[in-house]
Amino acid sequence: MSRSVLVTGGNRGIGLAIARSFADAGDKVAITYRSGEPPAGFLAVKCDITDPEQVEQAYKEIEEKQGAVEVLVANAGITRDQLLLRMSEDDFASVVETNLTGTFRIVKRASKPMLRARKGRVVLISSVVGLTGSAGQTNYAASKAGLVGFARSLARELGSRNITVNVVAPGFVDTEMTRVLSDEQREGIVGRVPLGRYAQPDEVAASVRFLASDEAAYITGAVIPVDGGLGMGH
Ligand code: NDP
Repeated sequence: MSRSVLVTGGNRGIGLAIARSFADAGDKVAITYRSGEPPAGFLAVKCDITDPEQVEQAYKEIEEKQGAVEVLVANAGITRDQLLLRMSEDDFASVVETNLTGTFRIVKRASKPMLRARKGRVVLISSVVGLTGSAGQTNYAASKAGLVGFARSLARELGSRNITVNVVAPGFVDTEMTRVLSDEQREGIVGRVPLGRYAQPDEVAASVRFLASDEAAYITGAVIPVDGGLGMGH
């Protein structure tokens, strides 16, 4: 059965792989993007998730054109890495505002119609570093750890209405976000990954699609690592 899916930041990287994976399975997929030409094949809606008005407008447009959203994948996120002593207020605030508050905003908007429909799937994209910590990423790790507490609280709030809320925590994935790392940094990371390589975006998408499937109906409040074993034990 074709469902109405929304992927934030679905115009590139992991988000695009997730959007393609749902579309390939026959679902109707909307994506948000901020600038440039969005990829073809989706209902593409402009939206900066740090702006409450844009979130409301975008959501309304998606509901009108594609129907009520049954699966929400909150994927949009940024990094602004810096050691704590050099981290500015803005470095910290902008990462939390995008990754955590932006997710709160879109999930809050999505939850109302899901509550009315008495069904829904919410998947948040966190990160292995939200669990393990990462030097130079206090802002990012805090925002991604925050998503876990957010998801687990919401899973408790919405469970009785047949709405599941889960988290996928990828390790290092080959996208523009990680291409800014130096060869030395990349080699260092791969050396610590038991599977000895980066993930491909499709490998994250597969877990997201599973959590949104009927087979995962009894899974909520879970954190699913897709990290090649990097975060084992956390
Ligand atoms: P990219 O940098 O390739 O893509 C980030 C996406 O988020 C883009 O679509 C971007 O839109 C969107 N985005 C950023 N800020 C906003 C905003 N304010 N409003 C709306 N959209 C926004 O990153 P990845 O694909 O690698 O990452 C996707 C998610 O996965 C992120 O949450 C990231 O933290 C997480 N993740 C990534 C890992 C990795 O190794 N790559 C590892 C673990 C987690 P635009 O094109 O308009 O900038």
